[in-house]
Order: sequence, then structure tokens, then C-alpha cells
Amino acid sequence: MPILNNRMRSIVAWTAYPVVIILALSLYQLLLNNTPYSSKIIAYIPVVFGAAIITFLESYFPYRDEWTPEISDVGNDLTFMVFIQIVLPKLLSFLFASTLLSYLQTKDIFLKGFWPHQFTPFIQAILMLFIADLFRYWLHRAAHEWDPLWRLHAVHHSPHKLYWVNVGRFHPLDKALQFLLDAFPFIIVGVSEGVLSIYFVFYAINGFFQHCNINLRLGFLNYLISGPELHRWHHSILIRESNRNYGNNLIVWDLIFGTWFLPKEKSVDGLGLKNRQYPLDFASQIRTPFIKGLDKQQG
Ligand SMILES: [Zn+2]
Repeated sequence: MPILNNRMRSIVAWTAYPVVIILALSLYQLLLNNTPYSSKIIAYIPVVFGAAIITFLESYFPYRDEWTPEISDVGNDLTFMVFIQIVLPKLLSFLFASTLLSYLQTKDIFLKGFWPHQFTPFIQAILMLFIADLFRYWLHRAAHEWDPLWRLHAVHHSPHKLYWVNVGRFHPLDKALQFLLDAFPFIIVGVSEGVLSIYFVFYAINGFFQHCNINLRLGFLNYLISGPELHRWHHSILIRESNRNYGNNLIVWDLIFGTWFLPKEKSVDGLGLKNRQYPLDFASQIRTPFIKGLDKQQG
């Protein structure tokens, strides 16, 4: 039984990420081809599917037992997920993005020539991933190296554990800045709703995996994808470890700009901010960026 258990763990570790990503994108395409609903509605179904599988895997194949969240942790994370990730920038911004896109298309005032609309939607989504991740790389790096931005971004680094639901923990101003770089430029050049939806499916599920507490091994994908093995180091309490692996979806820009970090014989120790008393509840974290030095105070 333990042998079977170990074999099962190994199979899950090596296959869960690619299998869930492929299934989710296939489900999106299947629904798009066989239902009358628009891509921006359909896109939420594979994302919920991915979240359900990842929740199951976190229960049975955890990376660290001590990272299993308390009910109060999940309550705050779900509040962030609903208000910051879904209601504020995610759902509304993507709906807004699509509405703005339709408006620009009717007026024919967007910069069509700057984007290869002739490519298939999947190829366009891959191109979008590379470009959006370049913009996000520099925003993220600036957020770690420039104090006013860091104080906003510290909210995301405040948890002492990693599990998929805390991917939604961002200050609304941090999230708004991200939206300006990873969605807005693509609306301006007229990227279609279908391409934005494919991007959204990958972006959401990869984000869940990136923060998940599942024992996963990505192997050679650690040179392409910003997955959990790399991102755990980004949440380290030690600045020399956390100022690494800035990639949002991809890790290629970290490889190019020299911030890729994955020690072989080590695993990450403490996570979070220096101030172990930094408030973790939703209401407090709307205010914490406006208290200078709070993240570094000795609690
Ligand atoms: Zn960060």
C-alpha cells in the first residue's frame, strides 16, 4: 500500500500540471464549439473545473502539511478572491475589456495593424502571454525594488503559507496596475474576445497551480512556466530569495534578465513578511500599504 501510495504521489507530481492545463483548454474549446454561449462566459467553466481538481489534489497530495489553511485564512482569501480578483479586476475588467473592444471595433479606431489577427486564437494567446509577461515582469520587479509599489504588493506576500486560494490576495491598486499592463494594451490593439478568453483560462489555472500546496514536479517546464516550485521561492521571507522568479505565467523573462532561481538541494523555509504580526484580514489589508514600514516592523 505505501508503495502504491508513493507511486501515486509520483504520478500526480509529474502529470497533474500538464494534464489539468490540457484538459481545461480542451474543455474550453469543446464548449466553444458546442454551445451557443460567448467565449467570455464559457471561459469560467474550465477555470472552475481547474479549481475543483486543485482543491482535491491539495487535500490528498499536499507539499507541506503545515501549509493547510485554517478556516479563517480561507475566509479572508475568498473575500479577496471574490472582491479583488473576480468582481473588481477580473470579471468586471474582462467584461469591460470586451465591451471596450466591441466599442473600438464599431468605431474602427483601434490599432489593428499592430497585432497578427490572422494567426489562430491559440497562437495569438501564446504571443499575448509572452508580451504581457514582459510588461508584468518589470512591474513586478519594480514592486519589489521601489518602496511605494512594494507597500501595495506586500499584501500579496503577507501569508505565511501557500495554497491555491491565496492567489487572489492583492491590494486593489496593485491589481489595477497589473490590469493596465496585462489586458489594456491588448484591447487597444484589438485582440479578440476569444483570444482574451484563452489567455484568461491559462492565466487563472496557472495562477492557482503557482500558489498551490501540492507536491508537484514540473521538470523542464521550470524553464518555461512560472510554476509552484519556482514561485515558492518568490514568497520566501528572505529578500535574497524572494526578489527572484518574477514571472507571472512564464519564467523566460527571469531567465533572460538573470532572476531565475531554483536551488537543487534545498527547499524554501519561512514564507511571508518580516513583520509576523502584519494584519492578514481583508479590511486591514486595504489600509496596510499606507502605513510606511509596517511590513518590516518587528512584531
Ligand atoms: Zn511579488
